[in-house]
Amino acid sequence: MASESGRSLSARLAGAGVDRRSFLRFCAGVTATLALPPQLAPKVAYALDSVDRPNVIWLEFQDCAGDSEAFLRSRNPSVADLILGMISLDYHETVMAAAGAAAEKARDDAVAAGGHLVVVEGSIPTGIPGSCTIGGRSAEDILRAAVRGAAGIINVGTCSAFGGIPAAGPNPTGAVRVEDVVSGVEVANLTGCPVNADNLTATIVHFLSFGGFPARDRFSRPLFAYGERIHDTCQRRGHFDAGQFAEQWGDEGHRKGWCLYRLGCKGPSTFHNCPSVRFNGGTSWPVAAGHGCVGCSEPNFWDTMSPFYDRLPHVATSRFDLTADQIGVGVLAATATGFAAHGVGKVVQHKVAARREKQAADRAAEHAEEAERAEEAARQSATAASDTQTGEVK
Ligand code: SF4
Repeated sequence: MASESGRSLSARLAGAGVDRRSFLRFCAGVTATLALPPQLAPKVAYALDSVDRPNVIWLEFQDCAGDSEAFLRSRNPSVADLILGMISLDYHETVMAAAGAAAEKARDDAVAAGGHLVVVEGSIPTGIPGSCTIGGRSAEDILRAAVRGAAGIINVGTCSAFGGIPAAGPNPTGAVRVEDVVSGVEVANLTGCPVNADNLTATIVHFLSFGGFPARDRFSRPLFAYGERIHDTCQRRGHFDAGQFAEQWGDEGHRKGWCLYRLGCKGPSTFHNCPSVRFNGGTSWPVAAGHGCVGCSEPNFWDTMSPFYDRLPHVATSRFDLTADQIGVGVLAATATGFAAHGVGKVVQHKVAARREKQAADRAAEHAEEAERAEEAARQSATAASDTQTGEVK
């Protein structure tokens, strides 16, 4: 790897106490998260060890710093090591040691070099002149300058991607999304409140391994993370299909882990991989913890998803009516069918959950084994080539 330190990623990781096996396991896991075939895990490992670390500028505007928090508390220490090994985080107001002119210079130097990644957290206030000013420059100016010559923009969280909470009515700051201010640079929107750090890691790995962002939907969200509806992969789905719903917070259904649709869950109209990737080191996610999905990764959140505790068909929306209603009607029909068709919901639920868990475990094991096999084959081939060469010299 032609990094500034002249050391490959694997060498830097070895120096930090991360062994090769852990690195390969990480590559296999991230390949699985990206929904890529396991055969590509060795390519990912090779690419991460061969590319230059990109300069990364992390900008914060109208936000709560929740995405920075998610990033800093990513899955486990070795992943944090990996991230720090893969990128050169040149500017991040919350975590950088430099301040004042030195910090501004670090950012400007990274921009001058070009080919950098810009990570944006928070929406851009356009209704209040001079708001979010840093070093005498407004948020809008800082953003425009930072993306000049950039290789890509990663919007972390719903605020930078769609406007988010600051843009909710009546939007007193005139908050807009990043793509309303700048254009002409490839964008990946990693929505959610906050972003899932594992999805951020996977997107960066894809960028480094394949020279660009993963395939995305019409909202520029990577399909590997936003290609499936939460409702379709939810662990409570068996209860939905069986017509078993929590009706009140703390009632028997709620205590038994039944479906939260009637308590306002927005999972049927939300696309995200929360049920499989989860948060806090894969520990849990809101629906598993007993609260309905609030639809935070969708456009026009929060306006289109509140009131949070109303059922979907009753959600008042100004710009999302058709979709919400259509889904709501579909949900009602499915619910009725569920009541009529299934009397043995628990059995269904257990079977579905067990099948999904087994599939996920099988996939992860398959990816890891494939990576190790490819590594071993490469090692044997290198040894054979070396033996041949030695023989020729003799
Ligand atoms: S309505 Fe919500 S809790 Fe129920 S199955 Fe769908 S996503 Fe899960």
